[in-house]
Amino acid sequence: MNETKGTRILVVEDEPDLREVIRYNLQGEGFELIGTGDGEEGWRLVREQHPQLVLLDLMLPGMDGLEICRRMKEDEATRGIAVIMVTARGEESDIVLGLELGADDYVTKPFSPRELVARVKAVLRRDRREGEAATGRLVADPIVIDRDRHEVKVDDRRIDLTPTEFRLLEALATSPGRVFTREQLIRQAIGEGVVVTERNVDVHIKSLRKKLGDARGLIETIRGVGYRFLEDGGKA
Ligand code: CA
Repeated sequence: MNETKGTRILVVEDEPDLREVIRYNLQGEGFELIGTGDGEEGWRLVREQHPQLVLLDLMLPGMDGLEICRRMKEDEATRGIAVIMVTARGEESDIVLGLELGADDYVTKPFSPRELVARVKAVLRRDRREGEAATGRLVADPIVIDRDRHEVKVDDRRIDLTPTEFRLLEALATSPGRVFTREQLIRQAIGEGVVVTERNVDVHIKSLRKKLGDARGLIETIRGVGYRFLEDGGKA
């Protein structure tokens, strides 16, 4: 319950009302909040206050959110700070760019306080989990991935995946809730330097879903952005 205590969150959002709503709701969860409506100031606060997570609006005076994200991920000192982009509808290409720059997630305005809190907690949880070694079995009921044997079972039934399908499933299922762009999946699952189009990714995913049968719904398509594996087996 007290895992939020002492966790500092920076809100960089130039709509004062929205910034206030975010502050109010996250403080209510026990988080420590700092905020600004200016991009330059936001970048300064990132470096000086070293928050655990930044809620980052994209359109900002001073410096835009994507530039802040780019700088954060280029700088050793700030690279590890989680980023959730706060985006407007129709900003899909900026969302894709932000995710490829290293942002962890995004919320689209208007969002409910509940959704925001859930996303923030999920990203912080994932941050902790991803530090753990990626070996052994990965269970995402009813899917069980045996990384050592390169074997996947659905409802205790073994399914045959190609190496690419296996790596795609592994990448997605290792970070449930995280949205991957096609470009990120190419890098993670297919390998850098291999010439694959984004359309190829869709073909592999389509084939993977078919083999997953009833569990296919665990891989969700995020229109205009990419794919994600549902958290908690999609039950939440
Ligand atoms: Ca804005």
